[in-house]
Amino acid sequence: MSRTHSPTHLGCQTFRFMVWQWCITTAEELIRADGEAAATFYPEGGITTLDQFLPLEPEKPGYMRLIQIEVDHDYAMTQTDLTKPIIVAPIKPEKGEYGVIVIDGWHRVDRARKEGREHLPVYMLSPDAEQACRIPIFI
Ligand SMILES: [Zn+2]
Repeated sequence: MSRTHSPTHLGCQTFRFMVWQWCITTAEELIRADGEAAATFYPEGGITTLDQFLPLEPEKPGYMRLIQIEVDHDYAMTQTDLTKPIIVAPIKPEKGEYGVIVIDGWHRVDRARKEGREHLPVYMLSPDAEQACRIPIFI
């Protein structure tokens, strides 16, 4: 495992979702170095449940999306590689069941859904790997 990683995450690719933030650079390093110990690979991960987070269609009148992932549609349609697995992290709320959140690859998801695809290759991080790439948020 790489130990050259900057503790400040300067220059890293990061993703923040609500109260969580992750270093994607670390996640990619862990997957490269530790393989299946860091992440489980799913060649055909289902992505249709992610539609609710993306502005794929105009909002229905009277509805508001509480959480919306920002995507650049032009970038998504032209610069993404749908063969590159997206990275998903398990998150455990204070109460309740484990959930999962896409931490890398929202543009790929956006493009895939616009093209009518229902699956993408996915790396699901192990709980340990998720912890290892989590960046504390100080509010
Ligand atoms: Zn980092």
